Amino acid sequence: MDALARQISDVGLPHPLLVDAAREAIAAGDPESAHARARATERRALTPVINATGVLLHTNLGRAPLDGVPGQQTRIAGYNNLELDLESGTRGSRQDRTARLLARACGAEDAIVVNNCASAVLLSLAAVADGGAVVVSRGELVEIGGGFRVPDVMAQSGARLVEIGTTNRTRADDYARAVAEHDDAVAVLQVHRSNYRIVGFTESPTTDALAALGVPLIVDLGSGLLDATCPWLTGPPPAWLADEPAARQTLDAGAGLVLFSGDKLLGGPQAGIIAGSRDLVARCAAHPLARAVRPGGLVLGALQQTALDYLDRRGDRIPFWQMATTPVQDLRGRAAALLSTHDLPEGWSVADTSSVPGGGTLPGVEIPSAGLQRQGDHTALLRMADPPVIARVEDDTTICDLRAIPPELDEALASALAHT
Ligand SMILES: *Cc1c(COP(=O)(O)O)cnc(C)c1O
Repeated sequence: MDALARQISDVGLPHPLLVDAAREAIAAGDPESAHARARATERRALTPVINATGVLLHTNLGRAPLDGVPGQQTRIAGYNNLELDLESGTRGSRQDRTARLLARACGAEDAIVVNNCASAVLLSLAAVADGGAVVVSRGELVEIGGGFRVPDVMAQSGARLVEIGTTNRTRADDYARAVAEHDDAVAVLQVHRSNYRIVGFTESPTTDALAALGVPLIVDLGSGLLDATCPWLTGPPPAWLADEPAARQTLDAGAGLVLFSGDKLLGGPQAGIIAGSRDLVARCAAHPLARAVRPGGLVLGALQQTALDYLDRRGDRIPFWQMATTPVQDLRGRAAALLSTHDLPEGWSVADTSSVPGGGTLPGVEIPSAGLQRQGDHTALLRMADPPVIARVEDDTTICDLRAIPPELDEALASALAHT
């Protein structure tokens, strides 16, 4: 077994894993397969890939990309001051810095950071409702993805669901009546239709109206647009953001808490943010579940960088915003340069394409984009490249969309295309 493991040592795996591959191969009566088995193990490792799908927030590819692994992150991976107050030398709170910066960036009194938006929903309902009734519109009792269903999460939080209105129409009156009729009504929950649309004969009240009902309004925004005016961009907000609710404006309209993901439109690492009034945030922070859903130092470090970029109005340093706002003519120019300066196989040509924000945000939104295309399905070969390239197929044509590919990876893309 050991000899066989040594024979396959060109595969870059620790020796014990090569031995495992050898053992499996021998057990299967096929020692020759050891090399392929080791390679398969190697390919299962977390590894960078080139996202040529044109889906900017691709859940399978880790949603919002960070700016490489910044030097800062590598440093935070070592010792850090996660829970130390450097000034006094006493124990500090991991929630103090990053959450404060985010609160600052969206105009909230306070905020805390948890593992993801699903945890934010669970924790805020558990802490604010504390077993009482929460009023929700029937049109918002939805599944967000991966089995995360609003009614189920509510049950887990201990809150009692009071369902009102209809799938397509719910009015402010429906909420007011429910709050008046149920003595134990302690909050209203509004869930943003982040990954689906209800069109046609529809009605739902404004956030202002819901905030005036006399109980705290919790708004699950999901997507995490910080401010509708996008002060971190040099130009105006992109047209495709129209109608997307933002944390700052939702709080201004009177919401007690807003909840959103770190790795959707915020463009940071996987996290959930609970921002809003000091009192409600403090209740969330003091709840026993808060400890179970708290993030680690690596996440807080990465999110701190994202928050600082927002406060510095440097959307160009946040990869999602940088990619989402690149002019399409820049992408066309890069596609043309890839073709003219590389000896690519016959059949690849410049194409106008459509990117999508993705990640369960902005359903139906398309951003004009450009890339390279070729007849037939070449995606399997592209996935075998180093780094793997993930492309899409439409109408039996392989499309490599450039919007989610940083320009410095164009050379790597070209060498992957050369093997098709
Ligand atoms: C995406 C989403 C969630 C879940 O967010 P995660 O960060 O993936 O846990 C919750 N609510 C809404 C409205 C969402 O869009």
